[in-house]
Amino acid sequence: MTSEITPPMPSWSIEDAAEHYRVDAWSDGFFVVNESGHMAVKPFDDGPLSIDILDVVAELRARGVRFPAVLRFQDVLRARVKRINLAFAEAIREAGYQSTYQSIYPIKVNQLHEVVEEVLDAGKPFGLGLECGSKAELVATVAHLESDDTLLICNGVKDQSMLSLILSSQRLGKNVIPVMEKFAEFEELIALADAAEATTQFGVRVRLRTAGAGKWADSGGYQSKFGISLPELMQIVAALKANSTEHQLALLHFHLGSQISHITQLKQAAKELGQIYAELIHMGLPIRYIDVGGGLGVNYTGAFEEGSIQYSLQEYANAVVSAIQDVCDARKVPHPILLSESGRAMTAHHSVLVVETLGAFRKDNAPDEHVLPSDSHRLAHNLNELLTWLRETAWKDASVDELVEAYHSVVEIHQEAATLFAMGYLPLQQNALIERMYWSGCSAILRILRSSWPDSLPPQFYELQTLLVDQYLIDFSVFQSALDHWAIQQPFPIVPLDRLDERPTRRALLVDLTCDSDGKISQYVSSNDDKSFLELHELNPGEPYCLGFFLMGAYQDIMGDAHNLFGRVAEAHIYGDAEEDGNFWIEKVIPGTKIQDMLAQVQYFPNDLQRRMQNQVKEKIDSGAIRPKLGMAILDQYKACFEDDTYLVSNRVTKDVSD
Ligand SMILES: *Cc1c(COP(=O)(O)O)cnc(C)c1O
Repeated sequence: MTSEITPPMPSWSIEDAAEHYRVDAWSDGFFVVNESGHMAVKPFDDGPLSIDILDVVAELRARGVRFPAVLRFQDVLRARVKRINLAFAEAIREAGYQSTYQSIYPIKVNQLHEVVEEVLDAGKPFGLGLECGSKAELVATVAHLESDDTLLICNGVKDQSMLSLILSSQRLGKNVIPVMEKFAEFEELIALADAAEATTQFGVRVRLRTAGAGKWADSGGYQSKFGISLPELMQIVAALKANSTEHQLALLHFHLGSQISHITQLKQAAKELGQIYAELIHMGLPIRYIDVGGGLGVNYTGAFEEGSIQYSLQEYANAVVSAIQDVCDARKVPHPILLSESGRAMTAHHSVLVVETLGAFRKDNAPDEHVLPSDSHRLAHNLNELLTWLRETAWKDASVDELVEAYHSVVEIHQEAATLFAMGYLPLQQNALIERMYWSGCSAILRILRSSWPDSLPPQFYELQTLLVDQYLIDFSVFQSALDHWAIQQPFPIVPLDRLDERPTRRALLVDLTCDSDGKISQYVSSNDDKSFLELHELNPGEPYCLGFFLMGAYQDIMGDAHNLFGRVAEAHIYGDAEEDGNFWIEKVIPGTKIQDMLAQVQYFPNDLQRRMQNQVKEKIDSGAIRPKLGMAILDQYKACFEDDTYLVSNRVTKDVSD
């Protein structure tokens, strides 16, 4: 069908695949391309054990799990908790810091119970605590303070019932610290404590001068919606002093926002808070903790460019420790216990979303030769002449200028045809023919270009390249599973799980199942200069083609919405174990949301819907429009759908043949 003009294909190795998808740059050592050309997980920091993700997919399929599905590698989660704590331990040792560090897990990043339990368990040796930011999160976390030492930091705006639950848990002997976001909150807490004749402890989120940078810059700085100003802090100090309850102020906190891009901002904020701490110590307030909030970045693209994460985990830990230490030493005050609330950096790596490709739609498979009816329009003849030139002459020798000119002519003819058609001067058949010849022309030019410039095209042709990108339809919803991609254009690494020892030859745009033009992935992680497409393999009919979305464990799991009523995807919890087949075992599988569950969320209930459908069928049977047997079969078919998943059953992979 397509002509003999195919660019030469240099050889391709798994190393090329790793380089192309930048696996080493973003994976932090947890993901690799293995010798079979599959994506694999290396879940343990301290061992070579590797799990082939396709083996996990195969086992899940055998168990009847439907995709899309989230695979949680619990060991990766544990390894992240450990790495963060060890980085601070190293920073403290190196600097000779005279106190300790405790990590705090802010559950809003991923509240799933098993994630929280795993983090708590992995963090036990390091004294890890939790953070909550709402009433529901408080209710969830307060029951998980098994040890009285375990810290619970309560951020967010709090009403009286929250403050009183916090007070009660303090009376139980738990180490709960509400962080005052507003002066009125402080007054309310003290009033409640007085009424209960209880003592309390609390922290203050200080509104610093230093703001973060990037997407969440508004979380810090003067304009932030959060925090207590310095004059208010002075009022709190005066009130505590007046009551001789200085010991109640236990913690100072700031949070610069997620994905801090430069370490200098963090250092500056830590120093600013350090000065406030030192002053308050001198004023006789025995503050124990400094909490530097979240924001430890995850480098999703693996790039070191403007706006991406410019530091390592160790540099982050060193910066926090040295900034606070420097101020404390200069001001001759004791070193406080350091806390950080790193959520994203703890959870992002552990989960991989696996999706199936349902089909590929390409625009470059129109034939090179067309048979023109004799009464064809002038435009069709002109276009045909161009195609002949491309086919017979241009691919042997044509200059860039000649090709640019040819491309402009093809585009012009196509536009002129559209104008004539709109005015009623071009019959539909003729317009369709010109449309096909247009795609033939565009793809012929691109093929000729690729044979001369296999790696990157002259920039005049970027538009042409974008025009001819394939669409790969994948079985998922951006709004449910990759909300940050839609909302804040966060790129996530996406890699085929298979065939990585084979050169990807197609350039694809991934589109989802929703009826929304935004339901697509528009930015990719790759070594191409142009990030608007992802290089993928041509689909083999009848063979599944799975893609892995990586670093999905932070926020994406929990923020997804029900656009088009696509529900939560299936989920599997996986542990590594060298004694098991394939080096892994599956602890738990949670099926995806059923259609009836999604419907119930928007107040449609099976009984009512089925009764309505039944009435319609009955009407048709009564009027003789259909036979009763057919009516009953239709009703059964309808009822069976309630138990279905909201995603598609991909028992076939379609390849589009538009010609
Ligand atoms: C969201 C949030 C965090 C977590 O931030 P990450 O960037 O995920 O580490 C920590 N603390 C507070 C107060 C937050 O609002």
